[in-house]
Order: sequence, then structure tokens, then C-alpha cells
Amino acid sequence: MRGRVFLVGAGPGASDLITIRGADVLRRADVVVYDNLVSPELLRLTPPKAELIYAGKRGGSEKSIEQDELNAMLIAHARKRRVVVRLKGGDPFIFGRGGEEAEALARAQVDFEVVPGVTSAIAGPAFAGVPLTHRGHGSFVAFVTGHEDESKGSSAVPWAELVAAARHGGTIVILMATARMRATLDRIRAAGLPDKTPAISVQWATTAAQKTVSATLSTLADVSAREGIGAPAVIVVGELAGMREHLKWVERTPLFGRTIIVTRARAAAAEFATALRRLGAEVVEFPTIETAPPRSYALLDRAIKRVASFDWIIFTSAMGVESFIERMKSGGRDIRALGHASIAAIGPATAARLADYALQVAAVPDEYRAEEIVTAIGIKQIRGKRFLIPRAEVAREALPEILRDNGAKEVVVAPAYRTVKPEGAQIARMRELIASGAIDLVTFTSSSTVTNFCELLGVSGKRIRAAAIGPITAATAQERGFEVVVKPRKYTIEALAEAIRKYFVQVKKKT
Ligand code: SAH
Repeated sequence: MRGRVFLVGAGPGASDLITIRGADVLRRADVVVYDNLVSPELLRLTPPKAELIYAGKRGGSEKSIEQDELNAMLIAHARKRRVVVRLKGGDPFIFGRGGEEAEALARAQVDFEVVPGVTSAIAGPAFAGVPLTHRGHGSFVAFVTGHEDESKGSSAVPWAELVAAARHGGTIVILMATARMRATLDRIRAAGLPDKTPAISVQWATTAAQKTVSATLSTLADVSAREGIGAPAVIVVGELAGMREHLKWVERTPLFGRTIIVTRARAAAAEFATALRRLGAEVVEFPTIETAPPRSYALLDRAIKRVASFDWIIFTSAMGVESFIERMKSGGRDIRALGHASIAAIGPATAARLADYALQVAAVPDEYRAEEIVTAIGIKQIRGKRFLIPRAEVAREALPEILRDNGAKEVVVAPAYRTVKPEGAQIARMRELIASGAIDLVTFTSSSTVTNFCELLGVSGKRIRAAAIGPITAATAQERGFEVVVKPRKYTIEALAEAIRKYFVQVKKKT
């Protein structure tokens, strides 16, 4: 295949505002060249071996790659037959110099595709509760730069014409608006738009840091300065900006403004992260544990061959269920090979995964602990019986020991998967987030997520608020110094998300 460059819009900030096509291209990327306004969460979609290149911040003090150099780099990578993704904030063709990049690629005869994104020019107003057009009140919208190239001398933006048109019901959206906000707004006033025209500014739209102020054309610069609105921000000027008063909605979502860390493994985290995002939170995934195949399948394969000889199969995690059944399948086995073995699950999540495979559970303990499973199964059911426990390669010994102590005839512990700590790519970013105090809550779904979190980052839990799924996890978190503020009554992911919602609603009421 020939190399190809994809100019992809990453969306305005929230990691789930990328398009499905954009996400798909990222999953296939060999090289990703990304800008500073791109959500770092999106980089997690890339394959582990993808090369990630930071293109830096434009117009800022940070070092950044020059445009010519960047174009040359895209071309060079594409010529090595790579899938190159140029990931840009918002939409690539709205004030993103995507046009220049496309020109350079066309000139070099490199194949390219454009994947549009949700521009901040649209998402900013949307998240502020401002429609850009409205029947009877706004029949057109203009996206304008507030940062004009001084070298051009006269203004490239035809303010007089724009304002004349806006007076007849139009909306002006200004990007790159903060550095010269007062001058830009003064220009609009000078061109004849009334001082009392509603105007808003939205900073960091769609992220936990979103801040919005409402004012008028004549007061917005002052109010924004007072509220500390800085880049990146968009400004909306026009009658419709006044609709924010009725239509503001993000501030009402229960987890608005909250940054929550999810420490589960990537695959398992998706559902939980989505639930929290739905409630308005910005979720940062920091998987402290990921799963991989066990070093050897020998024990598991032997157990699967004689699986009907067991009286009980005990699953201690949903991952154990999945790995066990997938291994059976890949060995060409039918689920009916399980024969008459009874099945026990350590908790509701494990039982639910079994139910996904149409397997009914004969015993689930009331409490989410290895020790309780004996009670759930019943002492009489243990003596003289054969047990199989497909589980993680390294796990607590408590369960097999208790079974043996209670007279089990045989207990086979078979590694079905292995837990591994992920690479350190995100560690620096997480340390930064912790140091800046930007984290509102860290969520833990097992003791090992707590331990790994602290060990990977070299931090204690001091001054960090945490949510823990159950009592053992909570105890581990407390030992590490976390302030455990959320403990659901039921030890499930749904209950955890709901308890988090309740907690923050309460916090909000108090303040
Ligand atoms: N291509 C981008 C714009 C790049 S220019 C897009 O379509 O959104 C950078 C400007 O975009 C910033 O100065 C700011 O005006 C705006 N911007 C980008 N992200 C933003 C955000 N999350 N909230 C508010 N403004 C944002």
C-alpha cells in the first residue's frame, strides 16, 4: 500500500467528540503528528507501536516545529509507505493551517484525505448554550480570526461589511480571540454594532476546565479579564449570545467541571468511563493494570481437557471468565464440555460475564471476598469435591487454601491470564495533573489498582480524593493515604458511577 496522510480533526477538547472515522484512522496509524490542543486521551487509541510526534504550540513560547519542517516530515513519512495522521484540534480546515498542509501534500503528490472534526467555533457556543442560527433571529454565522497578521497592514477581516450584515441578524464567532480581545470588540463597536449586543466568551470548551462568561459587546473585555479568561477561547457576538441565559446546560450536568481518573484496564474501563462522561465529567484513563495471556497455558489446557471431572468451577474475575471461555473456544471445545460442573462467581460482575455466555451461577457470596465463597457454596459441598479455579497468574492464595482446609479432594489453580503494568507513556502527564491539583477524584476497582497507581507514579494518596468499589479496595486506598469519599453500597461499576454522581451533587449543594 502507498503511504497516505490523513488530516484529522480531533474535535474541540472532549475526547469523545472526535468522529468515528477519525478514531478509526487513529487506530490504524503508524505515525501521529499532533497539536497541543488535541486531547491526550485520543493518543491512547493509537496502536502501541505507533510513533507519536508532538508538533508543539503555535504562537506560544514553547518550542514548536516550523510549518515547512512539519510539511516535509508528513511527506517523508508518507513516502515510507506509512499511515500518517496529522491530528489537529477542532476541524483541520478551520484556522488550523490544514489548508497549507494539504497544499504541500498535493504539491508533493502524496495521497491525503481530510477527516473533518467538530470545530471549537461550533462546539464552544454549543457548550455555552448558544445556538448560532435561529429561525427569525439569526440567519447566518461568520467564523472570524481575532488574531490578524499585523504584517498585512490593513485588516483582512472586512469588519464593516460583517457588522453591517450582523445588524440584520447574524452571529459572529471569533477564534484566537483572547490576546487582542478588547481591540477586536472595539473594532466591532466602531463599525456600528450596538454596545448592548449580547456577547460571551468560552474558554476550554467541552473540557472540565470550561469557563463561560456572558456580557455585552461593550463589557465583555472587562468581564473576561476579571474572570481570567485566557486562551483557548472563542467569543460569540450577536443577539443569539443572549440565549445562554435560558439554554445553558453543561453547568447543570452533575459532574460538570470534574476531572476523574479511571484506573481500570483499558478494555474494562470503557463502559465506566462512558458512564462518567455521560454525567458530564472529563475522564482521564490511566490503566494501572492491563491483561495479557499467561506465560503458559499448559495448566489451563490440561484442566480444560478434563473439565467435566470437576464438581465446581470458581471464577474470581470477569477477565477469568472471558479468558477461560475464549481458550475453550480456540481449542475447538464446546461450552457443553463443562458437563455437570457447578459454577461459582466471586461477585456480581463475574456472574454477569458468565451470564453473557448463558452460564448460570450456583453460588455468589454476599460479600465480595474469597473467604465468603465457602459460605456461599456450603461446607458440605466442599468435602471430597474437585475444584477448578481459572484465574490470574498471580493472585491471593486464600481461596485454594480455604477449600483444601475444608476437605476439598482436589483444587486446580489454572492461570488463564496475566496482569501487567502498562508502559510509562502517560506517567509524566498524570504526575503533572496531580501536582496541579486538577484531579477531583481517582477511582479504584481493586486493591491492585491502588497499589499500582501509587507505585507507578511514586506518589502517596495524600490530599487525593478517591472512590473505591468495595471495602477491601477502600482499606488499601486509606492505607495509602487517600481520602476515600465514595464507597458504593453495592460493589458494581454501575453503583460506583451512581455513588460518584451523588457525592458531587452533594459537594455542589454545600458550596
Ligand atoms: N482548528 C481549530 C482552531 C484552531 S485555532 C478548530 O476548529 O477549533 C485555535 C483557536 O481555536 C483558539 O485560539 C481558540 O479560539 C479556539 N479553540 C480551540 N479549542 C478551544 C476550546 N476547547 N475552547 C475554546 N476555544 C477553543
